[in-house]
Amino acid sequence: MKIKQAEFVISAVKPDQFPEDALPEIALAGRSNVGKSSLINRMIERRNLARTSSQPGKTQQLNYYRINDMLYFVDFPGYGYAKVSKAQRAKWGEIIESYIREREPLKLLIQIVDIRFPPTEDDCLMYDWLKHHDIPVCVVVTKCDKIPKGKWDKHIRIAKETLQADPSDQFVLFSSEKGIGREELWEVIQRAIAG
Ligand code: GDP
Repeated sequence: MKIKQAEFVISAVKPDQFPEDALPEIALAGRSNVGKSSLINRMIERRNLARTSSQPGKTQQLNYYRINDMLYFVDFPGYGYAKVSKAQRAKWGEIIESYIREREPLKLLIQIVDIRFPPTEDDCLMYDWLKHHDIPVCVVVTKCDKIPKGKWDKHIRIAKETLQADPSDQFVLFSSEKGIGREELWEVIQRAIAG
């Protein structure tokens, strides 16, 4: 996928700030520090676009990036961040919930997990909730460069088992560091958009 244009559009804190041009939206979720900004930057071939606009603790924002006038990446706040208060966590739920429930242009949610560890309880809750709302999900297992190749399959199997994943959901092995999985993930996205 050749990226001709990638720009940050808005940090939306309420639904009336979501863009109105009906371009397809691909949302990205994962716990804080899982490597979500790095993945976005790798996908759009920009070094720092995502990192500069997503800060831990900014729990209520959905960051919109417009790509090639073709789609939006919608970056969810990282979850499981230890230092946020209960009230902030509840706020996280509010904006995400209304987005997941009502956002018509949402075509796919990319849930990102770390290959080194089994998905956390928060990851499992997120996944269950997406399934409950019938959202198309692709699970990206990232930071694969951090463990030997020979262990990739086993760790992916553990991720599938821990999430009790739907066998029809795609899993994509990824490394933002090395660029592994980038083309495959773009293909998944393009299929989701074509729908
Ligand atoms: P976010 O909080 O989910 O947006 O996480 P970041 O993208 O900021 O990444 C957290 C840390 O993990 C940073 O130090 C990144 O450099 C590192 N990181 C992210 N993705 C990868 C990867 O694929 N491979 C390796 N080796 N490190 C990564």
